[in-house]
Amino acid sequence: MPVASKAPTEWIDGFLFVGNHLALDFLNTRPVLAEGPKELLPDVEALVRWLVASRVLTPQKGRILSRKWQDTPQASVFLRQIRKFRERLRAVVIGQEAGRSVSDAFMAELNSLLKQHPSVIGLLRKGKKLKLDAASEPEKPTDVWAPIAIAVAELLSNSSPGRLRKCEACIVHFLDTSKKGSRRWCSMNICGNRIKVAAYQQRKRTARKKMPLRGNASSTLI
Ligand SMILES: [Zn+2]
Repeated sequence: MPVASKAPTEWIDGFLFVGNHLALDFLNTRPVLAEGPKELLPDVEALVRWLVASRVLTPQKGRILSRKWQDTPQASVFLRQIRKFRERLRAVVIGQEAGRSVSDAFMAELNSLLKQHPSVIGLLRKGKKLKLDAASEPEKPTDVWAPIAIAVAELLSNSSPGRLRKCEACIVHFLDTSKKGSRRWCSMNICGNRIKVAAYQQRKRTARKKMPLRGNASSTLI
């Protein structure tokens, strides 16, 4: 199904792709940075750029839709709706991470979206392989519900809750697809190294406090 994050790198065109899942990458379009929450989808143009970065749209299709949708009331209304949906999804994901089940209200909303915006599946070429995947061709803004709704439904039905996790150092959520299942950070580059350095410094501070007045200091460090 059309749900794995298809983008291989962490940042694409100013958007974060560390969720390992389209639904989580969508959720992570409102990260909290040092200066506070940052809306990465402030306007319709940004939404289309995110759809291209996440490979829901081809760059060519993105250019066409960006021109077509810009400054239309329908696109503005849709953007507000999908951002509100994203925040309801956030509550659900946080609940899942805490072991709570999905509310009936959210399930009903999602089922309604799936019914109103069914996904089109097609046989697509992925490198040398053929893959059954989403072949959505949005024309109007609300067509974007189809890939988002199916991704969220897939996340909630197929992912083990234990693998759904929030980064230990920031607000970003991800699906741990590692073999060991012990991933703790959104990304080693973004938070992993920062935490490791902080932990190292903490150990150093603790070691200094414990350090005897006389003795071999270097053996007590780290
Ligand atoms: Zn993080």
